[in-house]
Amino acid sequence: MARVMWKWIKEELIFPYLDIPIIYFDLGIENRDRTDDMVTLESAKAIKEYKVGVKCATITPDEERVKEYNLKKAWKSPNATIRAYLDGTVFRKPIVVKNIPPFVRTWKKPIIIGRHAYGDIYNAFECKVEGNVSLEVNLKNSENKNFSVHNFDGKGVFMVMHNTEKSVRSFAKSCINYALSEKVDLWFSAKDTISKIYHGFFKEIFRDEVEKRKKDFEDNGISYKYFLIDDAVAQIIKSEGGILWACMNYEGDVMSDMVAAGFGSLGLMTSVLVSPSGEYEYEAAHGTVRRHYYEYLKGNKTSTNPTASIFAWTGGIRKRGELDGDSDVIEFADKLEKAVIMTIESGIMTKDLQPLAVPPVDKYVDTETFINSVKKNLKKLLEK
Ligand code: NAP
Ligand code: MG
Repeated sequence: MARVMWKWIKEELIFPYLDIPIIYFDLGIENRDRTDDMVTLESAKAIKEYKVGVKCATITPDEERVKEYNLKKAWKSPNATIRAYLDGTVFRKPIVVKNIPPFVRTWKKPIIIGRHAYGDIYNAFECKVEGNVSLEVNLKNSENKNFSVHNFDGKGVFMVMHNTEKSVRSFAKSCINYALSEKVDLWFSAKDTISKIYHGFFKEIFRDEVEKRKKDFEDNGISYKYFLIDDAVAQIIKSEGGILWACMNYEGDVMSDMVAAGFGSLGLMTSVLVSPSGEYEYEAAHGTVRRHYYEYLKGNKTSTNPTASIFAWTGGIRKRGELDGDSDVIEFADKLEKAVIMTIESGIMTKDLQPLAVPPVDKYVDTETFINSVKKNLKKLLEK
């Protein structure tokens, strides 16, 4: 369904108004299968070359999808391939609309979560032990150092995890790039009072990378703060938002779902992949919305929310405009976003938003009606 909406968005809201060359890669599951997934890599290379990409949600095939589409194999997630190629970090950013209030009363502006997506418990070795076991760590280098960790005398578990300077530095750089791009304060949180070396390592690298960009922070009027993770959690609830919160892998996994739920609907959540060297790929945070697609195939109208997909386009268009110094292009992106927000705030919304609306609205519209209403508002704004 995401792909069906994508086409409507392009045809109704983008192409009639904007004459920009677009280099297109078909990441549909059939074409990825046909090209042995080379098309995904080519699209990643194009983002590297052109600096900005916009991506529609794609199927990450499981066993069922392999049968349904008669695939050669269960291809990897395109997002994982593109992220690995660009060495990027994914940021999730909610779209704030006045009549869809967040569950946390103080939140007025988006809270963006940046999650480090390498290492820690996600690439750890873990093991159960039983009886008298002495756990030691042996570093195989020229010194062959040995560390005694624990002497077990019964059942227990242990885990060995790691991270690398290269990965943490890339993460810090991507967070700094995105905070500057969005002109929001940057927070980084960890627990370096307990994990002085491991978490301390992250804290040091963040401080070091921020120091290098000190002037950019000053020029953009934004600040950097380090928090202990528990303090950050308490502060974020009291804050009004407008923050990029950089989290280590596990904390980012948990906090991104907490913040997404706090802001209401997946249909209002965008996602941006930012590389340490400043390439940007914009998309909606939701998937292909498969259940709605099966309804659409039966000829039924669906009320799938296109907002996050429209904002993926406006994000990419605005970034392109900034890179080219083209104020008309930037203005178009601003107006299209405004047209979407005006539509929802006037009470015209899709089914996912209706139960969240304050004041309540008595009916929801289908996707095409929503897009047409946005188009009407966009036309008004463009005439001004
Ligand atoms: P999903 O597509 O995000 O949809 C899950 C449910 O969330 C939908 O059934 C719908 O609930 C609701 N929803 C999501 N987006 C919505 C929108 N724009 N408007 C209204 N409701 C919305 O997740 P999924 O069903 O788990 O995944 C489907 C496929 O997408 C999978 O192949 C998965 O691999 C892929 N995926 C891709 C990406 C990506 O490319 N970035 C991300 C996530 C998942 P109701 O049915 O209750 O209305
Ligand atoms: Mg999670």
